[in-house]
Amino acid sequence: MGLELRHARRPTLRELDSHAILVLLFGVTLIGITSWAFVELAIDRWRGRHRPPPAARAARCPACGGTEFDRLTGGLWDGVDAQGSRAGGMFDYGTCRQCRTRVGRWDDGPPYVVPDEEWEREVALSKAR
Ligand SMILES: [Zn+2]
Repeated sequence: MGLELRHARRPTLRELDSHAILVLLFGVTLIGITSWAFVELAIDRWRGRHRPPPAARAARCPACGGTEFDRLTGGLWDGVDAQGSRAGGMFDYGTCRQCRTRVGRWDDGPPYVVPDEEWEREVALSKAR
């Protein structure tokens, strides 16, 4: 009688085992995902700390050669190029920290001194917006 009972219980024990394996697998997966997320976050932070600030993209001041700028506005532009096909890129406007020259830069082109009219149109208006 006692033996029969023990036999009858075996499938239940096996179910418990497979359940435990599932829990273990789930746990391992969860730990894996969590540590992966932490690694990704650490890489992102590292990259963020080592990425130059947006103003540094503006290279050298055309007036004094300074490399530090106060970025005032900028962003993405899109339009049509000389060939009539769609184009787009990035632009920045800022002032040189050394000589306060108004500097503009489009895409990877050289920084240039921004004429008053352009400054009014691009910077003053974007600030008023
Ligand atoms: Zn300058």
